[in-house]
Order: sequence, then structure tokens, then C-alpha cells
Amino acid sequence: MTTTTATTTATSAATAAAPGRNRRVLISGAGIGGPALAYWLDRYGFTVTIVEASPQLRPGGQAIDVRGPALDVAARMGVLDRIRDRRVRMRGMSMVDGDGKELFSTTERTITGGEIDSPDVEILRDDLCTILAEAAGPGIEYLFGDSLTSVEQDETGVRVGFRHHPARTFDLVVGADGLHSNTRKLVFGPEADYLAYMGTYLSVWTMPNYLGLDRWQLFHQAPGGTWGGGVMSVRGNTECRVYMGFESADLLACDHRDTDALKRVLADRLGGQGWELPRMLGHMWDAPDFHLDAMAQIRMDSWSSGRVVLLGDAAYCASPLSGQGTTLAIAAAYVLAGELKAADGDHIAAFAAYEEEMREYVRLNQELAYTNKARVEAQAAAELGEDTDLDTAVPDFQEAGEIIASLVLKDY
Ligand SMILES: Cc1cc2nc3c(=O)[nH]c(=O)nc-3n(C[C@H](O)[C@H](O)[C@H](O)COP(=O)(O)OP(=O)(O)OC[C@H]3O[C@@H](n4cnc5c(N)ncnc54)[C@H](O)[C@@H]3O)c2cc1C
Repeated sequence: MTTTTATTTATSAATAAAPGRNRRVLISGAGIGGPALAYWLDRYGFTVTIVEASPQLRPGGQAIDVRGPALDVAARMGVLDRIRDRRVRMRGMSMVDGDGKELFSTTERTITGGEIDSPDVEILRDDLCTILAEAAGPGIEYLFGDSLTSVEQDETGVRVGFRHHPARTFDLVVGADGLHSNTRKLVFGPEADYLAYMGTYLSVWTMPNYLGLDRWQLFHQAPGGTWGGGVMSVRGNTECRVYMGFESADLLACDHRDTDALKRVLADRLGGQGWELPRMLGHMWDAPDFHLDAMAQIRMDSWSSGRVVLLGDAAYCASPLSGQGTTLAIAAAYVLAGELKAADGDHIAAFAAYEEEMREYVRLNQELAYTNKARVEAQAAAELGEDTDLDTAVPDFQEAGEIIASLVLKDY
């Protein structure tokens, strides 16, 4: 992996175009979709640069699921065994009350990963990110700790300005920079035009395994609400990932990058709750990988504008409630690169074909998030003794499975 930082000069590798149309591609974001796309574009002979806001591949994130078509893509990339090796291998989960008394326990499923014996792979987000970036290999140029400040395009290329590196021209730009995509803001306009807020916030961070969990998840639901907190042991039980959530009628006023303010909000909302939540919040203040964000979707009529195209959460975030953000990003990266190859770099044809292939799958998965939300709410109501439709209170894994499997990958 070639890396340059804000303090070093960019290599000239990415400026030398190989034969063929639109060979020089800049990707904004080295999350999940960015490195997966880089792998395929590099393999097809494109020259790829990735600009990533973090100073290195970003740490942290809860266990995320790789499913259906994304497993197929991983196999075609030759990384499926590595991904399976790093899976979190949960044994089961318990729900506890405010005093820590067990209310319910199962070894058949977990809250984060669904059925234990499913073929899906549950893996820590940072582990998956590393595996994909390593697979993309040394041919990719990385500009860590940097971000786009301007994007101007004409029929010959896209001129981009960086916060730290000198301005450069690429043939194509891909925004794979997540829910709060900078590329989307620069090219398509304000986030508010595309973001559909789902009424809750979710946070994730790492803490020591002081509860002595053995590949186990513990969750506590705050009384009277749908959300609370939980913890799972990871990395051979050497550490835990905590996650906590709360309902909020409106989007928070503070900036999504203002970590200190977000920590204060979370401590305020959940600090007075029972079980271990206050102690777990105590570990939050020093956590290097704290992440708190709104459950939200991105809905756009078009994912491209001229030579700029969006990928993954930037274009069609389905929210963690769908459990499908990772699968969408990986599958879509394969499709976008494949269509660029098939069109020999003709971005107009390729971007149209990418949308055509992915639109229905995105629609189904965004809908799935709302179905899951309704089920979580019904389950919470049932646990509080309210009348509820039991069919909606139990996760319908079969229906979700059909949606997840509904994207059939082409060969490119
Ligand atoms: C820290 C973190 C924790 C997460 N935790 C969970 C979780 O627990 N559960 C879950 O379901 N989903 C989680 N997600 C979202 C999940 O990873 C995505 O839904 C999914 O992986 C889609 O991937 P993506 O590549 O489209 O976006 P992401 O994985 O979000 O990657 C976007 C990348 O773009 C980078 N970036 C952002 N702004 C800029 C900028 N201005 N310039 C350059 N780069 C930029 C980010 O640092 C990140 O590396 C998390 C995302 C992040 C960033």
C-alpha cells in the first residue's frame, strides 16, 4: 500500500494514465466500499488513489455482517477464508434487568449477528476494512489525513482540491465517504436534502472485558424505551465492544464530528440508567474509537453527476437497522468496477448500468431497515406487557434472507 500523509508529497503514480478511457480514479473514503472498489479497479487496470480523512485506516465500529452477495464478492477477491477466520464467533446472548438479573438467554442467536448457525459472517468493522485494504494491494495510492475541498469537472476530467495535498486532476471521482459524505455535499448539495432520520442514535466504542464475558453478548433495555445498551466480548475475549442507543425525536444540534459533545449527550441520556450502563459510560471517555451517529438513510434520485459517482452509505445508506450496509457497499463496489470495465471506462454507460443493477436491491434493503425497526419496537412493547402482534415481535429471518440473497452478481 503506498501511503502519503499531509506532510509528504503525493507520488506521481496516480497521474500516469494507462491505456483506455478514464483510467485515473480518485476514491474518497477508505471504509468498506472504498477499498473493495480499489481492489476491483486496480485488477481491471485502472489507476487508483484513495483520500481518507483519518490518519490511518479508521479503527473501531461494532461487529458488522457480511452476507449473501458480499460473501460471493469476497470469495471472488480471494479473501473469504480470511474474513471467516476473523469472524467474532459469538456463542449466544442474554438480556438482563436493571440489577443484572438474567431475563432471557439463548445460544441460537445474538442481537448483533442474528442466527448463530447462519452462513453470514459477523466480523469487526476495522478487521474487515484492513482485510479489504490489504487485498487491494500495494498498487493503491493512499492520501491519509486529507479530504476534498473542491470538485470541478468538465468533459475532460475532474479537478479536485485537497485540504493538505496540492490540487490534482482525475478522470473519475467516487464518493465512498459514508453517511455524511463530503463528496456528496460538494457535488450534489446539502446533506439535509438526502438524509431521512429514523428517530434513534447508536454509539459504539471499545472497553476492557471487565465483565469476564466469554464470546457472549449482554444487553439491557432501558425501562419504558426501545433502547439501552449492551456489550460483547471480542478478539479472544481480550476486549469488549460496547454499544448504546437512545431515541431522539429530532437530530441532535451538535456536529457529528464533535466527539466530546456527543459523549456528553450520551452520558446525559443513559448515565442514570441501571445495570452496568454508568460503568460502561465511564470507559467511554478514554475510548479512542468512540462513534455515535444517527440511524438514518440516504435517499437520492441519482447516484452520479457527470464524472462523479457515489458508493455505499454515501449514496444509499440503509442504516445499521438494516444490517446490510456492509453487504451493500461490497456488492456495489464489485458492480461499479465491473460496469466500468464492461464499458471500457465510459462513465456515462457504466454509471447508468451500476444504478440499474443496484436500485432495486437498495430499495429492498432500505425497506428492510424499517421492517426491522417495527419489529424491535413491537418486541419492546411485548416485553413491557403491551398487546402486540407476535408475528412482528419475532425477527423474520426468512424474509430478510430472501431480500439479502436477491442480488445476483454478473460476471464481468
Ligand atoms: C467508525 C465507524 C463505525 C461504524 N460502526 C458501525 C456499526 O457498529 N454497525 C453498523 O452497522 N455500521 C457501522 N458503521 C457503518 C458501516 O461501516 C457502513 O454502513 C458500511 O460499512 C458501508 O461502508 P462505506 O464504505 O459506504 O462507508 P463507511 O464504512 O462509513 O466508510 C466511509 C469512510 O470515509 C471516510 N471519510 C469520511 N469523511 C471523509 C472525508 N471528508 N474525506 C475522506 N474520507 C472521509 C471515513 O473515515 C470512513 O473511513 C460504522 C461506520 C464508521 C465510519
